[in-house]
Amino acid sequence: MIIRAKATAKFIKERVGTVFLDSLFPPSCPLCKSATKAAHTLCYDCLKDLPNPPDAYCLRCGGDTQKVELGCGKCLGESDYPDRVYFSFTYQEGIAKLLVGYKFADYSEWSRLISEMCWLRLEGDLRWEEPDILLPIPLHPRRFLARRYNQSALIAGEIAKKLKRPLVTNALKRIKMTKPQTHLSKKGRVANVQGAFVADSSIITGRSILLVDDVFTTGATMVSAVSELRRAGAKRVSVLCVARTIKN
Ligand SMILES: [Zn+2]
Ligand SMILES: [Zn+2]
Repeated sequence: MIIRAKATAKFIKERVGTVFLDSLFPPSCPLCKSATKAAHTLCYDCLKDLPNPPDAYCLRCGGDTQKVELGCGKCLGESDYPDRVYFSFTYQEGIAKLLVGYKFADYSEWSRLISEMCWLRLEGDLRWEEPDILLPIPLHPRRFLARRYNQSALIAGEIAKKLKRPLVTNALKRIKMTKPQTHLSKKGRVANVQGAFVADSSIITGRSILLVDDVFTTGATMVSAVSELRRAGAKRVSVLCVARTIKN
């Protein structure tokens, strides 16, 4: 029945056009359900209420600091941290709802919306980075098979199009089936993702890389991936995470 309804909607959309379809199913904001001009967009109020990243954090490791710093007591002199880390939002309320909805529902449309919002906030910084290639944090093949898509790869793909740089999905692989990080202690998270990634040095050596992930919690996954990319000869590694959790 659902398949028939979808096929009918597709038929109407193709034959009669979006305008008529919108009058039958008017587009609405995914957060507050108020009417919007186009599908898969936020209304103005929800867009402006999305939580900014914290005022002060370390621009290398993403940890809490008193003021904005490029290197703090935790990461200074440590090579496993990225050269820069960028966040678009703090992980709470609206953005959390979008990212969770995105993971489990209409993911390709959400990827465009989320990437667009990241771009609006970080365009200048990302253009300044001028990465040679963009890489997503990969899923383990078994997890990819179960989920059928990698949310970070979809977001990275949209950002790559805007930067006119290639998205490379075969240069960094996840070789260890890690547990979900959510319920682990800080120490447990580090151990869980240690040795989780392997990078192809024939692609990575000498390259400037922008690594893309959706949510940053302790940074353990990021550190493990950055460490492997450096081992494989990366010239520069920066990280874009859609949202950073409040406490680090
Ligand atoms: Zn709204
Ligand atoms: Zn730091």
